[in-house]
Amino acid sequence: MKALTFQGERTVRVEDVPKPVLTGPDDALVRVTTGAICGSDLHLYHLRIPIQPGAVLGHEFVGVVEEVGEHVSRLKPGDRVVACFFTYCGHCFYCRRAWFAQCESKTVFGYGQHFGNLGGGQAEYCVAPNADHTLEPIPEEVSDEQALFVGDILATGFFGAERAGVEAGDAVAVIGCGPVGLMAIMSARLLGAARIFAVDMVRDRLEMAERLGAIPIEAGEEASKAVKAETGGHGADRAIEAVGLSATIETAIHSVRRGGTVSVVGVPSTMVGDFPFMKVWWDDLTFTGGVCNVPVYMRRLLDLIAAGRLDPAQIVSHRMKLDDGVRAYEMFDKREATKILLTP
Ligand code: NAD
Ligand code: ZN
Ligand code: ZN
Repeated sequence: MKALTFQGERTVRVEDVPKPVLTGPDDALVRVTTGAICGSDLHLYHLRIPIQPGAVLGHEFVGVVEEVGEHVSRLKPGDRVVACFFTYCGHCFYCRRAWFAQCESKTVFGYGQHFGNLGGGQAEYCVAPNADHTLEPIPEEVSDEQALFVGDILATGFFGAERAGVEAGDAVAVIGCGPVGLMAIMSARLLGAARIFAVDMVRDRLEMAERLGAIPIEAGEEASKAVKAETGGHGADRAIEAVGLSATIETAIHSVRRGGTVSVVGVPSTMVGDFPFMKVWWDDLTFTGGVCNVPVYMRRLLDLIAAGRLDPAQIVSHRMKLDDGVRAYEMFDKREATKILLTP
């Protein structure tokens, strides 16, 4: 089958690789209909997270179930499904506490040997372990493109907004308007934010944020001051950080009022760094962050999409063939594209 594989720094390749097969009774084989490139794929592309050459990429995908193992009871061949970007067991210490993202045997699609060596969704086929958990059936009224993001970026944007504690009437600052930040804007609106400030430096992304109802603010050292100027000098009630740089985490902290909440979903670019402990303490801030607990949200988000309350597909800027995957990575990396879908 055809698949996009990692080859080295800023190098991916479309290759012919063996079609994956079921490896156990809980697996399902999915024929991928659409995959996407995620900001988290760029961490691999830039060697910020190690992955072995030849690994099949992609952790955001939808498809049709082609074959199921004998223990799979929730799915059958022909079902349209969306994948959670990671797998989880459902019965360990963390799964029993509904922290599926912390599952003791979690693996991640298309993320190489340090994350379970699973295949990826930027390919014609992908095998999903623990398929009854990992795959969610797509309701009839929801299209593949609409469903695709509930397994990763939409869930993450929603998680970021929920963990920020967004309530009706809040002013919310969203730092970073990549796909995750844009989903956070949509989610903050849904949760009742009165005003949303969107910080980035890419014009197309700020324009998209504006179309979603946010007030665009140019990124940089003055960004938090601009948020404060718009909020009577106090700052936003909540900030959602969707980049992962020390500078943007700092912008988020300085954008909220006293007693506000900062919720970080961007993957931190450093292991350690300066953290303004005194400011966070003195200003009574709440600081939270982490890996999105996706399975908790998938069904609810699909229902919101089916009900017409959310339309995540509107951020898609490019639809390309898997064969053009090399170019697609270059474009997404250079931020010439906001969100790229790849079809086999
Ligand atoms: P992306 O790289 O497309 O978006 C990042 C955005 O940040 C870009 O629009 C960029 O212009 C902007 N940016 C860069 N520097 C900035 C600055 N100084 N000020 C303001 N904006 C700045 O990626 P994405 O797909 O939107 O993902 C965002 C982050 O979320 C990534 O780190 C990704 O790995 C992470 N992520 C986390 C989870 C989770 O579970 N927590 C899930 C999915 C993605
Ligand atoms: Zn992702
Ligand atoms: Zn578990």
